[in-house]
Amino acid sequence: MTLPSTHECPAPGCGRTIPTRLFACRTDWYRLPKTIRDLINAAYFEGDGSYLDAVMKAEAWYEANPKPGVGKPTLTVVRDPQLPLGLPDE
Ligand SMILES: [Zn+2]
Repeated sequence: MTLPSTHECPAPGCGRTIPTRLFACRTDWYRLPKTIRDLINAAYFEGDGSYLDAVMKAEAWYEANPKPGVGKPTLTVVRDPQLPLGLPDE
C-alpha cells in the first residue's frame, strides 16, 4: 500500500491538488502567518503528534481568514414565490 502522492489544498474554496509533502498550495501557504508556517515546518520534521496540532491551527486560521469571495453568501436575488410574475392587472 502506498500513500497518495497528492492531496487537496486545505484552504477553503481552493481545491488545488498538491503534492503530499506540501501542506498547502503556494498561494495559501504564503497567506498563512509565518508563525503558523514555522510551526508546521518544525512539527513536520519532528514527526510526532505536534504536526496534527499545527495543521489544526492552520486550518482554523484559514477558517477565520477566508479568501475574498469564499465563505460569504453569494448575492442572489431571491424572488418570493408568492408574488405574481410581472405586474398584476388593475
Ligand atoms: Zn490553496
